[in-house]
Amino acid sequence: MKGIAILGSTGSIGVSTLDVVRRHPGRFRIVALAARANAERLLEQCLEFEPALAAVVEPEAARRLEAGLRRHGLATEVKEGESALADVARHPDAEQVMAAIVGAAGLLPTLAAASAGKRVLLANKESLVCAGQLLMDAVAASGAELVPIDSEHNAVFQCLPQPAAAGRRPPGIRRIVLTASGGPLRGHAAAALDAVTPEQAVAHPNWSMGRKISVDSATLMNKGLELIEACWLFGVGPELVDVVVHPQSVIHSMVEYADGSVLAQLGNPDMRTPIAHALGWPERIESGVESLDLVRVGQLDFEPPDLERFPCLRLAREAARSGGTAPVVLNAANEVAVEAFLGRRLNFTGIAGVIESVLDRHDLRQVTDLEDALAADAWARTAALELIARREPGSA
Ligand code: NAD
Ligand code: MG
Repeated sequence: MKGIAILGSTGSIGVSTLDVVRRHPGRFRIVALAARANAERLLEQCLEFEPALAAVVEPEAARRLEAGLRRHGLATEVKEGESALADVARHPDAEQVMAAIVGAAGLLPTLAAASAGKRVLLANKESLVCAGQLLMDAVAASGAELVPIDSEHNAVFQCLPQPAAAGRRPPGIRRIVLTASGGPLRGHAAAALDAVTPEQAVAHPNWSMGRKISVDSATLMNKGLELIEACWLFGVGPELVDVVVHPQSVIHSMVEYADGSVLAQLGNPDMRTPIAHALGWPERIESGVESLDLVRVGQLDFEPPDLERFPCLRLAREAARSGGTAPVVLNAANEVAVEAFLGRRLNFTGIAGVIESVLDRHDLRQVTDLEDALAADAWARTAALELIARREPGSA
């Protein structure tokens, strides 16, 4: 039985991971779960999977979980606070750690799992964007395995010659092509983008995901973060990573080789496929995902991304080229701007505006250690909050 720990078990990826695990009772055992505040969902998960440890960041939620567990006579240990996340990530009985916290909050626990030599199933792309070199170094130093969960990167991973060494450019590669659905606003006129509401932005046509990544998909920042993620995972420069909009989300990404061959991975848009692939790898296991019916899909379309209407992808590509602190600043400004948009304190087009202004103000530095990354992250959050506070309400 393989021990599994899940960082962010109450979120969209966490719940899908448990759905796959549930299908393989003799193969996987949940040993530790972590979440920010959803004590009720975490309690249900503990009752079903009986982990040894449950970590909750919010103290009040930790107390609710503790009370619920005792009511049911369950022996799961509860730890609270941010430091408890690392205890889940390093749990001695966990061979595999699903890193599925959203945002830069996932960086420290993901690093802890990598440093402890676990197989890290990486959904938390923001940790690679914030501190790619540090995370890849931690993987190399400890002998950890890094298996991408992001559907595009998992697709690329599947199209590479195995075993693929994390962070090293595989031989014979001409380029990587990431596919993008284009999000819910693909057909929107530029003039209509100002008035886009949070409800419209999170209504993704193909994927059901958490709110933050859904907004990132609407702005195309998600593809920008994925471009940076691909550079670290596969050891290539941003010039080798292309993006093509493919509205059906059937081809999850492609690898083009020197001889002109293009390998693609296809499937229904359901995160249980990459999750099951990574959990079982190198074996193939059931995921619960329906067979792909290409006749029903009928047609696969492709178009270039529109960088005028969706400047976040351009900003991310520029940050990838600049390197150093640029990606961590991009990510932090984006997190603050997305939260302000969801809280109706910033227009949809203001998200890219704030990120661009923060990047313009920022003094590019090298990231040599964790403190460099955390300092740039903190600076960018303050700068973004100030800019948002100063903007006229309703301005783009
Ligand atoms: P979500 O919002 O549904 O869930 C986030 C999880 O992280 C929750 O369990 C929450 O409790 C936890 N969390 C949030 N803030 C935290 C904090 N400060 N400290 C500790 N835990 C915290 O998000 P999601 O859609 O599941 O996405 C998770 C990650 O996976 C993101 O990095 C996202 O980009 C990536 N991802 C998601 C999908 C998807 O289909 N949802 C696809 C590809 C990649
Ligand atoms: Mg993705």
